[in-house]
Amino acid sequence: MTYRGRFAPSPTGALHPGSLVAAVGSWLCARHAKGQWLVRVEDIDPPREVAGAATRILATLDAFGLVPDEPPVYQSRRGHLYEAAFERLRAAGQVFPCWCSRAELAPFGGLHRDGQCIAPPDPSRPPAWRVRVPDTVASFVDGLKGPQRQALRDEAGDFVLRRVEGLWSYQLACVVDDADQGITHVVRGADLLDSTPRQLFLQTLLGLPHPQYLHLPLVTDASGRKLSKSAADFPVDGADPLPALRRAIIQLGLDDPGDAASPEQMLHHALNGFHPATLSHSSHPYG
Ligand code: GLU
Repeated sequence: MTYRGRFAPSPTGALHPGSLVAAVGSWLCARHAKGQWLVRVEDIDPPREVAGAATRILATLDAFGLVPDEPPVYQSRRGHLYEAAFERLRAAGQVFPCWCSRAELAPFGGLHRDGQCIAPPDPSRPPAWRVRVPDTVASFVDGLKGPQRQALRDEAGDFVLRRVEGLWSYQLACVVDDADQGITHVVRGADLLDSTPRQLFLQTLLGLPHPQYLHLPLVTDASGRKLSKSAADFPVDGADPLPALRRAIIQLGLDDPGDAASPEQMLHHALNGFHPATLSHSSHPYG
């Protein structure tokens, strides 16, 4: 089987040490498998995006020697694919319009269940569209964390595919693109571990193949919280890539690559003797 992996940043800010770990981890796994490594810009949420961030992220990846095998794709240009998948689900009766607010769902743990809305239909304003989720358990074996299970109805509920504003949800766009790009292996941060069962469920509904998943340890701040781009924490500096690259490699649980003349050399050193099983299982404080 050909291995096709990807790194899928959202352009909500500069590349930060947590996303660099995901980029390097997915690159190493793809190169180790002698596969391809792609980059997909997940720019489907304009209100959260920062102007120029996508260009800066791509330039930073380049400065770190992380060069994709195909030109990056942009989710903002792929709405027709999400629409087609959504229409298939709609034609099959698997999605429904929903006017429920967050406040109305709060007493139910924020979850929407059994296709049962609390709010009545309101033709004066657009609905969100949710997919009906059955009372089943989704399970998969994570490449690092082992067997995982999620009770879809009680832990995910009927989830949104199209938002009130007409924007496509991350879950739908990610599943459609992973399939369209022929992704066989998804290597990403552990913050997305609980999205994977929803993605497996959508793949099954749409008749799409299931990639294999591996969720990397998160990089946390001093208080143990995930570092996040939106918090504009610690952007990594493409002008001086070696220290941040070295740190990312260590945070992945690999041996200290020491000094190198270039990012390419450091990455190749890290690749030497690399095996996904040697990746760290626990999160790491930054610094
Ligand atoms: N765009 C997501 C993020 O930046 C990652 C999505 C994924 O790898 O599936 O957190």
